Amino acid sequence: MQAFEATKLFFHEAADQLEIPDTIRQLLLTPNREVQVRVSLEKDNGELCTLIGYRVQHNNSRGPFKGGLRYHPQVDLDEVRALASLMTWKTAVVNLPYGGAKGGIAVDPRTLSHRELFRVTKAFVDQIHDFIGPSKDIPAPDLGTTAEMMAWIMNQYSKYHGFSPGVVTGKPVEHFGLPGREEATGRGVGALTHKMVGRLGFKPANSRVAIQGFGNVGTHAAKFLFEVGFPVVAISDVTGAYYAPQGIDIPAALRHQLKAGGLLTGFDGGEKISNDQLLQLDVEILIPAALGGVIHQGNVDSIRAKTIIEAANGPIQPEADRVLRERNVTILPDILVNAGGVTASYFEWVQNNQHYTWQMDRVRVELESILNRAFEEVWNVSRERQIPLRVAAFVLAVDRVRRATQLVGLS
Ligand code: NAD
Repeated sequence: MQAFEATKLFFHEAADQLEIPDTIRQLLLTPNREVQVRVSLEKDNGELCTLIGYRVQHNNSRGPFKGGLRYHPQVDLDEVRALASLMTWKTAVVNLPYGGAKGGIAVDPRTLSHRELFRVTKAFVDQIHDFIGPSKDIPAPDLGTTAEMMAWIMNQYSKYHGFSPGVVTGKPVEHFGLPGREEATGRGVGALTHKMVGRLGFKPANSRVAIQGFGNVGTHAAKFLFEVGFPVVAISDVTGAYYAPQGIDIPAALRHQLKAGGLLTGFDGGEKISNDQLLQLDVEILIPAALGGVIHQGNVDSIRAKTIIEAANGPIQPEADRVLRERNVTILPDILVNAGGVTASYFEWVQNNQHYTWQMDRVRVELESILNRAFEEVWNVSRERQIPLRVAAFVLAVDRVRRATQLVGLS
């Protein structure tokens, strides 16, 4: 099942809980605006190349549209539309004053030179600058786009509209970006795992954790959990998984990764196992932090973790989610768990708009405070309505967006 269908399914489950009529469901599911533009690129060899760019603005009843821009060959209107709606629910669940959007260009960035990427990004801004802006729609990096590209977007947009650092987030720290943005998603995953374990009445020292994926999110989550005393017994990346029942020395794994070109290959701090075996370990906490759809009908029966923290987007397919619900496995859902990234983006935007810079410790404190509050709200809805945390997160988000949309007059 595609991510969009899964999101729609969870939306309807929440809408059933809230008894939202079909007419309002249709309104909430339909994007506010869809922009498709031609982006022409003169390649370094003089050849002309015509690309298609998209920006889908799903809902802005709670604030300006917010969401990433991806450069990937499979980007199309359907995918962008799906991801835009997911952003609406994600910003609503953590109660950021934003709506949801997504965009991108159907191109493989690895086939373009640095100069070509620069020209294509500028050309894209030339086409969409009237639709974006610090109080309209604020893009950010996503698959295939980088902090440097965000700086290009800011500069090009500012040529049309005057100096506007708040038009885009995820910029380099030297260029109005946020110190702490890089760690924010993984730190948020760690903080919410800590919170969840406390709520379930367990101690970190007795809660063994397995983490799939040791990239931006996985490394920062592992570091946080190691520091607060969780035994992180397994970690993995695309090259395989490593298991040490007494706990892996995470700083040693990070040092190894740095030396080994960003990979865990050859790490000797644990027994080598496969990524499939990692998912099936007998642990208290499983954190999928790599890819979507890794827990599916084919392997769900062998999942033994009692709690799953969804750091990646959509790591559990809906069919597997049903099975895990029946087995009373506690699942903390992605729209809450990985919202640390967009929360940090919000901090960057606030600072850009105020032309005032926070210190790193303030970023960490405010990040935890926002995520903790969202956790409490989701937890309470789940208890009150006797529904899984995932449905509770969607109930909270959909209800907020529904109310705001109705308050502004259903337009
Ligand atoms: P990343 O590219 O930095 O890291 C991905 C990690 O997964 C790498 O260690 C890679 O080796 C590993 N991996 C790839 N294929 C694998 C496989 N088949 N089995 C096991 N490991 C595999 O990506 P990231 O930024 O850490 O993002 C991870 C997930 O979190 C993605 O689903 C992403 O959409 C989601 N997410 C990230 C952010 C963010 O701020 N980075 C925000 C929200 C959601």
